[in-house]
Amino acid sequence: HAAKRDGTGVRAYSADLDEGQVERLVLLPDLRRALERDELDVFYQPKLDLAQGAVTSAEALVRWNHPTLGRLAPDVFIGLAESTGLIERLTHNVLAKALRQCREWQDAGLELSVAVNLSARNVGNPALPARVAAALAEAGVPAHRLTLEITESSVMRDPERALPVLRELEALGVALSLDDFGTGYSSLSYLQRLPVCEVKVDRSFVMGLEVADEARTSAALIRSITGLGASLGLRIVAEGVESAEVLEELRELGCDVIQGYHVGRPLPSAEFDAAVRVLNGVAQEAGAAAPV
Ligand code: C2E
Ligand code: MG
Ligand code: MG
Ligand code: MG
Repeated sequence: HAAKRDGTGVRAYSADLDEGQVERLVLLPDLRRALERDELDVFYQPKLDLAQGAVTSAEALVRWNHPTLGRLAPDVFIGLAESTGLIERLTHNVLAKALRQCREWQDAGLELSVAVNLSARNVGNPALPARVAAALAEAGVPAHRLTLEITESSVMRDPERALPVLRELEALGVALSLDDFGTGYSSLSYLQRLPVCEVKVDRSFVMGLEVADEARTSAALIRSITGLGASLGLRIVAEGVESAEVLEELRELGCDVIQGYHVGRPLPSAEFDAAVRVLNGVAQEAGAAAPV
């Protein structure tokens, strides 16, 4: 029996169909409509730069406000969007919203860059760089303020297609980040072939720091990644940081950027702005232009 909990309170049970089949049958027609009816929302999670002691970036994380099921987490529908080709429109929708938001931060005096997740199909699409360039121009955001997060497995699916796309994105001046690092196959050896400037240590290693019989291995793994990062000039991000103790340990292990519930949960843009102003110690003057 398939049972799914996604943190949104939504569960799907079925005796004869697997989860993927249920999602496909129930959600696919809805997902098509969702794009037309603009039901996708973007939340933002702070990335805290340890050297600067400030939030310098935000990761855009998509949510779907489903008319009857409520707010759905990306794990429920990204796979479906991928397998049906809707991911092209979904990514473009999130990218456009995130860049518009980035422009609003800029106009409101918040110096933040924004990070958008790509999926495998996006990375293999030769039309992506031109679309990204157009989206940047339309929003009036300089390329260096955009980071695109890719995963190793999405590159490895078809490296011959993906690598030229990534090089073109790099040439535009967009920053590339390798997400969920350490969960793929080839990791270290492949890293120097990819034009990335940032690596995000997978949450499982960060969480492992708090598990008694995994702590030493996790720390050793993270240290090897930060060591590599230092020698290759990569920024190392730790994701899934849920406590002050783990944050301090990651600082000592050489991580540059911290992301996780301890710093801030993904928030709708209005709440995110307020949270960042507090985190960055910017006094919010009464009557100051309210960005939304
Ligand atoms: P990801 O890119 O690795 O994003 C990090 C995920 O970890 C997010 O889940 C975030 O809410 C969660 N997270 C952050 N800090 C913590 C923490 O301290 N503890 C725990 N337990 N979790 C934390 P979310 O938002 O559900 O997104 C899941 C995945 O869905 C993302 O993983 C990404 O792969 C994908 N995704 C999200 N938005 C998009 C999108 O716009 N396009 C594509 N293609 N994929 C997306
Ligand atoms: Mg990500
Ligand atoms: Mg990740
Ligand atoms: Mg992930």
